[in-house]
Amino acid sequence: MAGANLNTNTKFLSGWGNTSVTNNVVITPDSPDALRSALRQVAPNALEHGMIPRGLGRSYGDCAQCSGGVVIDLSQQQILYKQDIQSGQVTVSSGMSIDALIRHMLPLGFFVPVTPGTRHITVGGAIAADVHGKNHHLDGSFGNYIPSMKILTPSGIVTAQPQGETSEIFWATVGGLGLTGVVEQADLSLIPVETQSMVVSTTRTRDLDELLSVMNETDHNFKYSVAWIDCLAKGSNLGRGVLTQANHALKPEITSANNHISLKALFARASKLISQRQLSINTTPPLNLLNRNLVRVFNEVWFRKAPSTSTTSIQSISSFFYPLDAIGGWNRLYGKRGFIQYQFVVPYGCEPELRMILEMLSEAKVSSFLAVLKRFGGSSQGLLSFPMPGWTLAVDIAVGSPNIAKLLDQFDEIIVSAKGRVYLAKDSRLDPKMIPKMYPNLDNWRSIRDRLDPKRLMASDLSRRLELI
Ligand SMILES: Cc1cc2nc3c(=O)[nH]c(=O)nc-3n(C[C@H](O)[C@H](O)[C@H](O)COP(=O)(O)OP(=O)(O)OC[C@H]3O[C@@H](n4cnc5c(N)ncnc54)[C@H](O)[C@@H]3O)c2cc1C
Repeated sequence: MAGANLNTNTKFLSGWGNTSVTNNVVITPDSPDALRSALRQVAPNALEHGMIPRGLGRSYGDCAQCSGGVVIDLSQQQILYKQDIQSGQVTVSSGMSIDALIRHMLPLGFFVPVTPGTRHITVGGAIAADVHGKNHHLDGSFGNYIPSMKILTPSGIVTAQPQGETSEIFWATVGGLGLTGVVEQADLSLIPVETQSMVVSTTRTRDLDELLSVMNETDHNFKYSVAWIDCLAKGSNLGRGVLTQANHALKPEITSANNHISLKALFARASKLISQRQLSINTTPPLNLLNRNLVRVFNEVWFRKAPSTSTTSIQSISSFFYPLDAIGGWNRLYGKRGFIQYQFVVPYGCEPELRMILEMLSEAKVSSFLAVLKRFGGSSQGLLSFPMPGWTLAVDIAVGSPNIAKLLDQFDEIIVSAKGRVYLAKDSRLDPKMIPKMYPNLDNWRSIRDRLDPKRLMASDLSRRLELI
């Protein structure tokens, strides 16, 4: 594509799950002016194949790619326009990563209000997926902390706010997966923290009933809460897990020693156990580490290393929030065919459905190294936002696991009848018929979107696959 000062390449792109690779024209504007000029040049060509913004590509599926069309890569624009160290409000370019923001603002005593399990995402990606963190039960999702944002829509530039006359556009964009336009910059309210450490309580629970009841009874005492579940455990052990709950440490609390074991160390421990037991495991590159043997032993080690009675430790922000970031490129561990991260939410009261899904996973012997359970609080006003009050479970599943497509279709049915939903930013396989059932505000979102983009220039592989527009 011709264009002065535009860094343009043709690239194969996929999401973090490494599935559904497609060929895209990628434009990487290096300044806000270059971004606006790129959009002016790209728009006429986008009529046929569409265009979509992209952050750091940490969505698992195909929402940040556009086969044959144009992808606007914003990740190179890391601009901190304004910071107010009284209120903790910053104004940043949408390509600003959470990592860069934390490196800049944490030493000044501020942390992001909501963070996913990786710091390598952009503010634009966080808005477009309305990401949630381990504090959703108390604090809600990312869009709640954006007082204002500037959106370059195909029908013009809008400064949108959560209340008032631009609020419809605001809430169509929060969770709108880049399909209302490109967020150019945003104001973000950070939270004050006294230290860079966390006081973490770890509790081992023997089965699902115990896990759910401990979370129900104690989560309100902690700003952050997440449970890891051993998906291979069956029978009376079904749903056994390790619950970690935490608050930001206050200054007097951080004198105790850090007794935390990193994820990397756990991997090493699991591999050692495997070699001692002489189990057969293929570790020749490309790494095929996440086979059933390793997952089974890893789960056992993880479960056993957690103390049988609740204990408290001091951990750094990085090790509590971002343990996976310590294992660079861990998504490649699933091999060439990649993996799916299936995340769903079912409302409170649908614990039997949650149990049924766990039973089916364990019966199917699906080896998931990462299965994470959280409690969600209230929904945001984002029309396509994922979180709603209820239990959310996220499970990594290698592509190629036997009968997995059928199993996930069955889960979708269970979730729809429970009036729950699947997270679109992680999806790569849903049936489009499920979307209106899972996202009841879809028609409202579509009509706002069509006003902003009457020629339907904004499109992604996900929007076409799920017939969103
Ligand atoms: C290890 C790991 C842990 C995770 N944990 C969580 C979690 O706990 N909670 C959670 O909610 N998510 C989680 N995620 C998912 C991730 O937070 C989201 O998918 C997020 O959107 C990724 O941001 P990104 O910058 O990489 O965006 P991309 O993946 O590049 O894009 C995501 C979407 O945002 C749109 N977009 C990007 N930039 C803009 C922009 N400037 N304007 C408009 N639209 C834009 C894209 O079009 C696309 O639809 C996790 C992902 C990983 C890899």
